[in-house]
Amino acid sequence: MAFNIVTKNNVRDRFKSAPRPGIWKDVEEKDWNNWVWQQQKRIKSMDTLEKVINVDADERAAFAASHEQFNMGITPYYASLMDKDDPNCPIRLQSVPKGGELKVLSDELEDPLAEERDMPVPGITHRYPDRVLFYTTHNCPVYCRHCTRKRKVSDPSSSAANKQLEDGLAYIEAHQEIRDVVISGGDPLSNSDERLEYILSRLRALEHIQVFRLGTRNLVTLPQRITDSFAQMLAKYHPVFVHTHFNHPKECTQEAFDACARLANAGCIINNQMVLLKGVNNDPKIVMELNHKLLMMRVRPYYIFQCDMSQGISHFRTPVEDGLKIIQALRGWTSGMAVPHYVIDAPGGGGKIPILPNYVLGHEGKKWKLRNYKGLEFEYNEP
Ligand SMILES: *Cc1c(COP(=O)(O)O)cnc(C)c1O
Ligand code: SF4
Repeated sequence: MAFNIVTKNNVRDRFKSAPRPGIWKDVEEKDWNNWVWQQQKRIKSMDTLEKVINVDADERAAFAASHEQFNMGITPYYASLMDKDDPNCPIRLQSVPKGGELKVLSDELEDPLAEERDMPVPGITHRYPDRVLFYTTHNCPVYCRHCTRKRKVSDPSSSAANKQLEDGLAYIEAHQEIRDVVISGGDPLSNSDERLEYILSRLRALEHIQVFRLGTRNLVTLPQRITDSFAQMLAKYHPVFVHTHFNHPKECTQEAFDACARLANAGCIINNQMVLLKGVNNDPKIVMELNHKLLMMRVRPYYIFQCDMSQGISHFRTPVEDGLKIIQALRGWTSGMAVPHYVIDAPGGGGKIPILPNYVLGHEGKKWKLRNYKGLEFEYNEP
């Protein structure tokens, strides 16, 4: 028999394009869709921000007190997702300074994950046996107010100069136990395509390197950066994993969908690392919606991070209970693919520790008492 195949795919149509605020109404499409334009027109001052949203007193005061230490930088694209009138808009909370940033609790740390201590050479954090974190730039298109590396991100004195890059590559080359490199920053996509390709090509030439990942938020904050030529460049160095950072369903626009599609079509595997943030996503319904959208964008939820004990982000931190409730509300109730690992990156450099709701009620010898997602009890007997 003949099968009549209907080829219409409407998934992209379920994602909405970012609205265009007044000040950019007359910008030509070709400029708006150009990442260089987006990068050049980033909002860095209160004056420009006031033209896009109704800034409140707390935001204004926080900007004045904080921007010299940790810059404000917001792409027009990301700013267009902000609610003009609601200071608690999840996009605003992540990108506009807030009074909470100025508070530092006594147990908070400048470098909570002791990344600098575990650096055999500047720019390489070697904590786990077989993989390293490679710091390649201090720049990002949007400076996230909850950034755990505020101590160096946005600070030109921490820029990864070519000498540091070479030393890092030499370290990786000399250490045969490394099989996985997390290319990080800042945002590694703030490097030019040429500089990134140089890093990838050097790593790919090493027999002991199996995989690398690009840890980037550009899919969220500057999706225009993912050009066809960039995606094709990556395809030469497969397997390439892209680890991104969506925190809220509002960030899942058609622009983001297209950027993910370009990477996925080029063969990249995309994972999401959400940070649990008070007022942004500490709600099971929001995380469920986010993860469903991510799967439609071919992005697999990978981690939910408990917010680190970094200085100036205590207003974002939630009880651990919030994270447990989210996992409990996902596991079993939705596709396992939509259930990430919830982890606390241990202060002091202990690494990521998984936190799970308790599904094991106990065991006596070979009898295991378990509960399922609905709370019903079951027993499993070992042979
Ligand atoms: C998070 C992290 C990694 C990668 O950890 P995975 O659990 O493999 O994703 C590697 N090195 C450092 C220093 C990290 O913080
Ligand atoms: S993109 Fe990542 S490194 Fe850059 S400011 Fe945001 S959280 Fe920090």
